[in-house]
Amino acid sequence: MADQTPVSAASLGLGLDLAYAPAPEATDHVRIREHYGLLIGGKWVEPASGKGFKTVNPATEVVLAEVAEAGEEDVDLAVKAARAAYDKVWSKTSGAQRAKYLFRIARILQERAREFAVLETIDGGKPIKESRDVDLPLAAAHFFYYAGWADKLDYAFPGRQPQPLGVAAQVIPWNFPLLMAAWKLAPALAAGNTVVLKPAETTPLTALLLGEVLEQAELPPGVVNILTGAGATGAALVAHPDVDKVAFTGSTEVGKAIQRTLAGSGKRLTLELGGKAANIVFDDAPIDQAVEGIVNGIYFNQGHVCCAGSRLLVQESIAEPLIAKLKRRMATLRVGDPLDKNTDVGAINSRQQLARIEELVASGEAEGAELYQPPCDLPARGFWFRPTVFTGVAQSYRIAQEEIFGPVLSVLTFRTPAEAVEKANNTPYGLSAGVWTDKGSRILDLANRLRAGVIWANTFNRFDPTSPFGGYKESGFGREGGLHGLTAYVDLS
Ligand code: NAD
Repeated sequence: MADQTPVSAASLGLGLDLAYAPAPEATDHVRIREHYGLLIGGKWVEPASGKGFKTVNPATEVVLAEVAEAGEEDVDLAVKAARAAYDKVWSKTSGAQRAKYLFRIARILQERAREFAVLETIDGGKPIKESRDVDLPLAAAHFFYYAGWADKLDYAFPGRQPQPLGVAAQVIPWNFPLLMAAWKLAPALAAGNTVVLKPAETTPLTALLLGEVLEQAELPPGVVNILTGAGATGAALVAHPDVDKVAFTGSTEVGKAIQRTLAGSGKRLTLELGGKAANIVFDDAPIDQAVEGIVNGIYFNQGHVCCAGSRLLVQESIAEPLIAKLKRRMATLRVGDPLDKNTDVGAINSRQQLARIEELVASGEAEGAELYQPPCDLPARGFWFRPTVFTGVAQSYRIAQEEIFGPVLSVLTFRTPAEAVEKANNTPYGLSAGVWTDKGSRILDLANRLRAGVIWANTFNRFDPTSPFGGYKESGFGREGGLHGLTAYVDLS
């Protein structure tokens, strides 16, 4: 655990030492195997490829396990298992029965929440308080929510007869490993599809533990198959000719490649890609609340959030006091051991991601932006990056245009609402936005003019399974969550 800069007791005039004592979460209830196979047709099997790769704890660089790397032959076996399960079992299973399985999965996730939260934190680097209080409750909530729809699909689409699509190939990223699996699996299964799921290569462990939960819930074999591997495994899966539907969450670059692969194939596709959200603060906003929203918007999950509020647009008249308050608040963020219950900013997910953040931050300095990082010691091992804010950012800078996917905020200013909208929309992405103002009419006006799939007002990074989430432009298409999320997994023709 790194030394933490305490909230300066002197600055608060208390004459007290407010340093936190370490509060490590226990890990003895989590069992990580040395080696993991693939879940195909209800059995854990060794990969035909004969290959494997290691997954490491990004906070310590310690190898956690060796995981199978699925090759083309494994992909084919998994798709065949999903097809057989669809034809013989799942397409004949009533909605009420499917709901029972989903409810079971949701309840088991709740029962085993601590185990999952710790494993998520160890494998991915996110603070335990986030895995525990955000990822796990939301993952269970998604299964509960879609369990509720499974036997009511005819009411979800009145006058239509929704039919499942068949076999869904689902490829997910590393920033919310279990939650993204839940977002993908719950609506697909509720609607009657079978699935081949591929978790990201740096965070496979909670998806594999979820495989055990599916067994515990007695989900019929082959309804969900789990293939670990990297980009090549994902590419083979989405290109498999017997897949009916592809759901992808990840980078825009890979999303575009998948779109090209699928062109003309007749496969259904939804893409949830990157973002560069504007968090817009007007001069009438509750400023302390806005500072909390800015911090949550960009430093939550080390900024590894597709909808992160990575561009702060602040009205010029309040820029100075707001940035001063923001810097003061940043100095209280605790960076370090993700398993410590007081940690706010954990480890960067991988060495590769750290290198990308460092490269973009260097470009920001080279282009002329002013960098601020609060003083804090970082642990000697592992992948770390201090919470960072750039002021004096021009719209043309790379740090204002490109997704950094790290704890790095770029601040721009505006004078009028029209200028705020223009700057906010000046991005190839369109996933989310935030508006901070006292005026309801201004919120409604901006919501109409901002080109983003999700717009938060006087809050940020709020999620609920009943609410659709998704993007425009290079942030992708299709929605996850809510009734909209079901549409992606049914044929209504
Ligand atoms: P990535 O695109 O490199 O990888 C995502 C997943 O795709 C991984 O499982 C990876 O193995 C797989 N993959 C890689 N190449 C592939 C290929 N050619 N064909 C098929 N699958 C392939 O992205 P990442 O770096 O892991 O994740 C970060 C990105 O994901 C960010 O850009 C972020 O904005 C985006 N993201 C978006 C959302 C959303 O809901 N819109 C959510 C989380 C992350």
